[in-house]
Amino acid sequence: MAVPYGISYAGAESDYDSADVFILGIPYDRTSSFRSGAKEAPFHIRRASYNFEEIHFEHGLGLPSLDIFDQGNCEDPFLPEDMMDEVKFFMTPPINDGKFTIAMGGEHSVNIPIMQCFKKDISLITIDAHLDSRDEYLGTPYSHACVTRRAAEHLGIDNVFSLGVRSISREELERDDVVPHITSFEIMEKGIEWAVKKALDSVKNERVYLSLDIDGIDPAFAPGTGTPEPFGLHPMDVKKAIGLIGGRLAGFDVTEVCPPADPSGITSVLASRLINEVLAVYSKNLS
Ligand code: MN
Ligand code: MN
Repeated sequence: MAVPYGISYAGAESDYDSADVFILGIPYDRTSSFRSGAKEAPFHIRRASYNFEEIHFEHGLGLPSLDIFDQGNCEDPFLPEDMMDEVKFFMTPPINDGKFTIAMGGEHSVNIPIMQCFKKDISLITIDAHLDSRDEYLGTPYSHACVTRRAAEHLGIDNVFSLGVRSISREELERDDVVPHITSFEIMEKGIEWAVKKALDSVKNERVYLSLDIDGIDPAFAPGTGTPEPFGLHPMDVKKAIGLIGGRLAGFDVTEVCPPADPSGITSVLASRLINEVLAVYSKNLS
């Protein structure tokens, strides 16, 4: 299906004031360390959103329909500090207005300013192949390798948890304040239900923001990403995790989809379907 550039996410027909849900594309990939191109992801994920039925029947047919506003994309500045300002400019009002926010990166660093828009009353769970807990990387503290460290500084380390990790540097492990995490190997052994329960029991704040770095999913299912890492989660595990967080969900982002590395488009399709999963679970908990 030909879709014109700049189209909104499927079903996002509301204006800002009446919206329950606020969507923003953040086309930023300047700190990518291996393969850039994530800046193209918002367009491809929006286009993929037209693949799907309006309802996902496994959640029931009677879900309240959501009023969704798609802001479009923010600007794509060069410096990470300017990206931080740009994201905060667009995300602070909907978060203060109590809307449920969904962001599409861009690389994972876009999560850093989003967390700072929240008061310190949420926790962050990431799904990621990487722990992303360096103090700084390649000369910036706002790199996509520093996401959970910045969140820990803002929310407290006991309000941060990573699931599906399988690539961690020595410098991240050889410190007293290692970011709490469960590896993909443990999830394969003990199941996603066990892992999500452990994460939800670990974080102190009730409301949970879920940040999905698409490379947390196995590259067999999500090949189109900047730093693919074998032995990842099954997409069904991520679907289940969203449902298990359920009524505690405070917001969502999906990052690190890299369309130039995704010629079939399957990674954008999966990212869109997981956004829809979040919308279904959010809607279910409104009713
Ligand atoms: Mn990652
Ligand atoms: Mn990441």
